[in-house]
Amino acid sequence: QRIGVPREIFTGEKRVASVPEAVAKLVKLGFNVSVEAGAGGLANFSDDDYTAVGATIAGSAADLWNESDIVFKVRGPTPDEVALMHEGQTLIGFIWPAQNPELMQQLADKKVTVLSIDALPRTLSRAQKMDALTSMAGVSGYRAVVESANAFGRFFNGQITAAGKVPPAKVFIAGAGVAGLAAIGAAASLGAIVRANDTRAEVADQVVSLGGEFVKVDYEEEGSGGGGYAKVMSEGFQQAQREMYAQQAREVDIIITTALIPGKPAPKLITADMVKSMKPGSVIVDMAAEQGGNCELTVPGEAVVKHGVTIVGYTDLASRMAQQSSTLYANNLFRLSEELCKTKDGVINVNMEDDAIRGLTVVKDGEITWPAPPLVVP
Ligand code: NAD
Repeated sequence: QRIGVPREIFTGEKRVASVPEAVAKLVKLGFNVSVEAGAGGLANFSDDDYTAVGATIAGSAADLWNESDIVFKVRGPTPDEVALMHEGQTLIGFIWPAQNPELMQQLADKKVTVLSIDALPRTLSRAQKMDALTSMAGVSGYRAVVESANAFGRFFNGQITAAGKVPPAKVFIAGAGVAGLAAIGAAASLGAIVRANDTRAEVADQVVSLGGEFVKVDYEEEGSGGGGYAKVMSEGFQQAQREMYAQQAREVDIIITTALIPGKPAPKLITADMVKSMKPGSVIVDMAAEQGGNCELTVPGEAVVKHGVTIVGYTDLASRMAQQSSTLYANNLFRLSEELCKTKDGVINVNMEDDAIRGLTVVKDGEITWPAPPLVVP
């Protein structure tokens, strides 16, 4: 079968769904691979890099979609792309079925099969190698620190130089999931003093192992909801948390917020008053900007200065490191391809008896199969 990799057409998207290193491995698994001309350009992979490992270049999107049995994408398809699909084709990418019911129906009408990488059952340890939410969150967390350093007018590390003594920057990370932990590691490695908070107390050890200090909210409440994810906390907890965050805002130079609750708007953790209380030149990077923001003053997609504080609300942090994020994503999709092609003969089998594959498969031969039944944990 032929795997096709189109050029992403969403405005500003720089990632590509496969990179030459992964294409070489797909060819070894027995697949033919087509890449649309220029597909890897914004991630620094040239057409020649792809042909060198055995891919063929398709001159247009229409050719690419037409000749491919399986299409690898980053973003969900646009209506124009859906129009190019044909019966029996398999699409793999970030579809976000809950947020895109119309797209799901259009895909079903096309009688295709769709594997939505965001629907992976992440608690299966076997699924970790395919977990693109984790790999993209890791890149984004790192990039959030880089963006904060770029907007901040001082060193992160403390220095004693002939020109004077410089104190280390203080960084506070709100939410220590995948992105938050990556941000803690990146900020600590630049030499900052790093503190972090999460409603799930079980992450405290991980915060410390990455070089951070875990700051607790002075209020007893279990923070884990279903599947180890966060839940909406009680009003009493939220009040105690606001007091602690207000104190951090006065003390630190940089705040990076990553707090999300599945299926709910992002919790508002940083109020306008907290922003006002920060030192001039401070920076906030709000990684929850797309889900409504953790900070009251965030403008999604933009960096703004309010009360002397730069508030970065970029919603494309992974795409801003397209070479790295594409490489990791391509490897996630290669590992998925291995699971789909155990026979190593270049033909996939979407085996609905396999828990990981079942979870990912949101449309099967034109039938909507999302959401998958809950996993039975033995
Ligand atoms: P996420 O992006 O949904 O949330 C980010 C973080 O924000 C979470 O740690 C959450 O606890 C925190 N948060 C939510 N509300 C908060 C609040 N009011 N104040 C402070 N912090 C708040 O989460 P994520 O990074 O995608 O992943 C976190 C969860 O997913 C964890 O349970 C993790 O173990 C699980 N996970 C499991 C696997 C796996 O099993 N293979 C892989 C990845 C993630």
